[in-house]
Amino acid sequence: MQPESDALCETLDPADWEPVRALSHSIVDEAVDYLRGVRDQPVWREMPAEVRARYREGPPEGPSDLQAVYGELTETLMPYPMGNIHPRFWAWYMGSSNYTGALGDFLAAVLGSNLGGGNHAAALMDGQVADWLRQMIGLPEGSGATLVSGGTMANIVGLTVARGVKAAEAGVDVREEGVAAIERPLRFYASDQAHSCHHKAVEVLGLGRRALTLLPTDDALRLDLDALAEAIVRDREAGFTPACVIATAGTVNTGAIDDLPAIADLCAREGLWFHVDGCIGALLAIAPQHAHLVAGIERADSVALDPHKWLHAPFEVGCALVRDRTTHRNTFALSPDYLQTQERGVAAAEMLYDYGLQTSRGFRALKVWMALKEHGVAKFGRLIDRDIHLARRLAARIEATERLELTAPAPINIVCFRYDPGGCDEAPLKALNIEIMLRLQESGTATISDTTVQGRHCLRAALNNHRTRPEDLDLLVSEVQRLGDSLAGAVPAAVNQS
Ligand SMILES: *Cc1c(COP(=O)(O)O)cnc(C)c1O
Repeated sequence: MQPESDALCETLDPADWEPVRALSHSIVDEAVDYLRGVRDQPVWREMPAEVRARYREGPPEGPSDLQAVYGELTETLMPYPMGNIHPRFWAWYMGSSNYTGALGDFLAAVLGSNLGGGNHAAALMDGQVADWLRQMIGLPEGSGATLVSGGTMANIVGLTVARGVKAAEAGVDVREEGVAAIERPLRFYASDQAHSCHHKAVEVLGLGRRALTLLPTDDALRLDLDALAEAIVRDREAGFTPACVIATAGTVNTGAIDDLPAIADLCAREGLWFHVDGCIGALLAIAPQHAHLVAGIERADSVALDPHKWLHAPFEVGCALVRDRTTHRNTFALSPDYLQTQERGVAAAEMLYDYGLQTSRGFRALKVWMALKEHGVAKFGRLIDRDIHLARRLAARIEATERLELTAPAPINIVCFRYDPGGCDEAPLKALNIEIMLRLQESGTATISDTTVQGRHCLRAALNNHRTRPEDLDLLVSEVQRLGDSLAGAVPAAVNQS
């Protein structure tokens, strides 16, 4: 025995690979069964106390057999998913993932590469996928494109570039001097339907919430252009620098798409940065029947989009596009002594972390690359069109169903509606609809969420799901009506008691 050399040869690799191979095969077998059978499972189920307790255990000091580790997951993890891969999940705004993408994540982890940059194949693929997304949206060649964790980060990247450009125009190097040096503070504009990540963005950019003016929307929940023009004039007079309009292509509440060509014109005329939050709608550009809805997006200075939404990539992957690649790079690039590029070898390539905030980056491209190669862009476009057709069908069913009503326009794949027995005030109506939503979730029948649009509370179904079939939506409508009928009367009383 030579204890010293044993210790120096310790590794995370198994002593014998064969049992690991066998276990891996069975994990894949069970994963395929899991997905094939997903429709027959409840969409969601509450975790029993014993399961929750397992997640309060401390870190394991000693080893366990990998088979036992996996066995624990089959009991405590796999039966309790969020549910967004289920055909009857329509809450918030998710994608429903795909098996090819899961294989991609597995292989990306096997390869284990860091996509901070470097001269290796994964880095080329990372750039290729980001550039495919650019081509789908129609931004010009030479734009900057980088994969990020999601839409929030993609928006933060775009708005950071906007901040730098507008500060520079005001004579300030914001990277060096910070926003405090900008004499006439920057102002950003968005509609009152803009996603909350833009609040986070102006906060982390040091601009503060007040730098983001939320403007009213019209009956279609689109940014009011007159209000925008007036706000710009008012801010200039008050000593501010109007810097950027954040247009939303597909709002999270209702899917409203701001008037992109008109906002592009206004930004060009007024010298403002034109950013499009396309986390939901940018990929409409590949949907043959609905691409016209986002015409004008190709004029943006920056775009945020989310392949983990309408491309159904497993979480996470977002993408930031910036019309001018050099400006994009200049916003983030650094060249520390320990990360120098070289003429030859593994560092002989542009560093990918120069286009965003992370240094180490995961290999997010592979899951997207594999699914796009397997199915082709055209099929993803058809699936987007299909979601919109299903949403129209759902909206029509709701309108044709007693005591159900639409509460907002549904221009794409998001349907806002509620159960209304008549004669109820807003507060008990809200309580009743929340109870319907919770019962649907708890029964495992369907998962939807709720929101408030222009002061009216409603249920909300976002049909971003390649597994949904028409009969799933028929079930939703009939269950909401049935639950509403059985609850109406009971819930307002419960509210009065509290
Ligand atoms: C989802 C979404 C975001 C945030 O994207 P994440 O991927 O969740 O970070 C931003 N804007 C809109 C319009 C969205 O729908």
